Amino acid sequence: MADSLHTLVCPACGKEMKKIFVPDAGVNVDICVDGCGGIYFDNREFKKFDENAENIDEILEALEGKTFQEVDGSLLRHCPVCNAKMVKNFSSARGEVMIDECYACGGKFLDNNELQKIRAEFETEAERAEATMAELYKTVGVELRQLEEERKMADAKRTPLNRLFKSVIYGMKTNI
Ligand SMILES: [Zn+2]
Ligand SMILES: [Zn+2]
Repeated sequence: MADSLHTLVCPACGKEMKKIFVPDAGVNVDICVDGCGGIYFDNREFKKFDENAENIDEILEALEGKTFQEVDGSLLRHCPVCNAKMVKNFSSARGEVMIDECYACGGKFLDNNELQKIRAEFETEAERAEATMAELYKTVGVELRQLEEERKMADAKRTPLNRLFKSVIYGMKTNI
């Protein structure tokens, strides 16, 4: 989805958001400068800002020196672009920052300071990908162990006939 051109209303505090143009990324980002300091990213925009090596000077400038209204990050929010209910997800495999995502249009909303926390996690896209893979292997590793345990349990539950059959085979082999 392309940049939304109309003024967005902040999904956290209801104030009008301001469009800040970021030349390095070539996109407008919507920031709640007069309310809670939240930031809304259109689909795919977020990828241009989520690692530390990417430049966000214009965003930081827009937020600088302001005191923002406190908002409850646990409340349900509606996407300011398409009005769908947003879903809370961790921003990375590390599970440190919870953000709001719109599954309908791909937009993301971050509370004040969340962008900085997310960027502090990874310097580059490659680092992020590595961490995601490491996390995946951890999960898959656990599942493999579970499968192994289940297989052992299944073995233990084999019928006496089954075991007898096995020992007969074994016995035949030793007699050869
Ligand atoms: Zn706001
Ligand atoms: Zn949406």
